Amino acid sequence: MALNQKQRSAAILDAVRRAARQEQFLEVVSAAEARRRFEACVDRSPLPPQSLPLAAALSRALAADVIAPVDAPPFDRSNVDGFALRAADTVGASDSAPKRLLLNAEVIACGVRPAIEVMPGTATAIATGGVIPRGADAVVMIEQTELIEGGPAIDLRRPAASGQLISYAGSDIARGETLLRRGTQVGSREVGMLAACGFAAIDVVRRPHVAVLSTGDELVEPGQPLRPGGVYDSNGAIIAAAIVEAGGDPVSFGAFPDEEVALELAMRSALDACDIVVLSGGTSKGAGDLSHRIVSRLGKPGILVHGVALKPGKPLCLAMIGDKPLIVLPGFPTSAIFTFHAFVAPLIRARAGLPPEAARTVTARVPVRIASELGREEFVLVSLVAGEDGLIAFPSGKGSGAVTAFSQADGFLAIDALASALDADSSAEVTLIGETERAPDLVIMGSHDVALDVVVGALAERGFSARTIAVGSLGGVHAASRGECDVAPVHLVDPATGIYNKHLLAPGLALVPGWRRMQGFVFRRGDERFEGRSADGALKVALADASILMVNRNAGSGTRVLVDGLLCGARPPGYANQPRSHNAVAAAIAQKRADWGVAIEPAARMYGLGFLPIAPEHYDFLLVKARCERPAVQAFLEALRDEKTRARVRALGMEPAHQPSI
Ligand code: AMP
Ligand code: MG
Repeated sequence: MALNQKQRSAAILDAVRRAARQEQFLEVVSAAEARRRFEACVDRSPLPPQSLPLAAALSRALAADVIAPVDAPPFDRSNVDGFALRAADTVGASDSAPKRLLLNAEVIACGVRPAIEVMPGTATAIATGGVIPRGADAVVMIEQTELIEGGPAIDLRRPAASGQLISYAGSDIARGETLLRRGTQVGSREVGMLAACGFAAIDVVRRPHVAVLSTGDELVEPGQPLRPGGVYDSNGAIIAAAIVEAGGDPVSFGAFPDEEVALELAMRSALDACDIVVLSGGTSKGAGDLSHRIVSRLGKPGILVHGVALKPGKPLCLAMIGDKPLIVLPGFPTSAIFTFHAFVAPLIRARAGLPPEAARTVTARVPVRIASELGREEFVLVSLVAGEDGLIAFPSGKGSGAVTAFSQADGFLAIDALASALDADSSAEVTLIGETERAPDLVIMGSHDVALDVVVGALAERGFSARTIAVGSLGGVHAASRGECDVAPVHLVDPATGIYNKHLLAPGLALVPGWRRMQGFVFRRGDERFEGRSADGALKVALADASILMVNRNAGSGTRVLVDGLLCGARPPGYANQPRSHNAVAAAIAQKRADWGVAIEPAARMYGLGFLPIAPEHYDFLLVKARCERPAVQAFLEALRDEKTRARVRALGMEPAHQPSI
């Protein structure tokens, strides 16, 4: 039915009102209360067993104790190539009085059943792994005997001890013993033990099937081109992978637009097909929210919790539909994966028969103040570096919308709901996430640049690992002056002199030149207002036309100082738009959210934009002198001087500085 103009504007107004309405959560509960309610309803017992061939059982939990059905070794076995004999026959053997034993007419190879009993005064040749014959109680190595051709016989010049060089039946695995306990995760060693007992298959706990769904009109499947306003569905991928890590079997349903009918249908079939359903997105109450609406009509008992006093993760929704848990995670990637690990991963492990993951914690000093919201327990992702006297934890500057915050963090710390901040220099308990890697050889904190990746790559080729923590130039200066990093990349101009970075030098710090990055006036190719002009000329045009929109940079950045210098006090439209990176400036111009800005040439190039050079910016490195002698720091300086590295830096559009020898 075609809508008339009036109906159309009424519909738009309606949508705007809906979007603007910030519905309150019905009841926000504490994380502990949320967990209590969830655990009270959810069956956490291991799923029924299934029998799998050993190779397929890898990483599964054993469904029951495994009792050894056989002895290993199954018989008394020789450990060496030599002779089986009676120890009593060798008593007193010496160089001056060797003992002679006649050889029996048999050679016991592996897999052969001995036929002749070893009688007093005799011995039988036996191979490593051969069955000890009746009568024998010791083995001597072939190297310690002399063959006497005539007998044939052997001479021994040393006595043998009873039991020597024999592995007795059942000494490795005794029939009837509990070989492996239920719940043990099957690894290669367990596979070996099971095979040694003759198992071809074993009962393991069935993996829970966990449905993964994403919702959001903006979501695009990885592999497809990104449309304007679109973002890739990263939650679907990371949650599926985290399900595998927790011992589950993910069933990916894909990403759905925020469309109630289709999403409800998908959720119903997910509930039918799987043991657990995990949906991400559409959970914040208010605009565009629909997940909880759908969940509330899927079945009893329904929603247990919607809204947890937790940051990140407030809009988390926990529900039970019949006997199946259904969890709606917040859409923001860091919130999603954080709440997944807090609420879903333990449930998957339990149902997969695996023991709870032991929390590994370390104590670290937090050098900076971290503000926190009152009333919500706040979790802060941190990077750990080794300081002079213990570990130092730096909060990740990235918000809960970031995909990388969780992946790049070493752990997290919790700030109590009743605290409004964690003071600088507090000591905090950090819960580690993922595998603990060894501490990096070099810690780089400051401004990030694509060419820095080239130097870090050159360091890796030299066998040194580096940890880069992007905290901006000023953050790098602070970290270096506190001695918390080895190297701080900086690019700050002294407004008084126009000279880069020298004014940042302080006692204990040295400055090493890095490279020059050309800053310029950036615009869309083909924009006739700017095309063919100099940067100066383009700027004059931009300032003369109020319909032309600029994009600025954040205060504290070197580029902002440059922009303010160019504007001489002018405040053109768009001045208040102040993103924090060269890439963001280029993206705003490419996507026509702005018409011009100032950024470095590589960023303009990457977005296919026009570039009019203004002035080179100096990207240099502050070194902490006390750490200069470290091999990794020396390797870093060497990499900077290396012609191969310099060529790669040049290829990215930077001009490497002349390197004074240090
Ligand atoms: P929502 O919970 O739907 O309000 O989403 C909050 C934010 O998370 C939005 O910026 C979404 O674009 C983003 N988001 C939601 N789902 C996903 C997803 N599957 N992958 C990546 N980002 C997502
Ligand atoms: Mg959404």
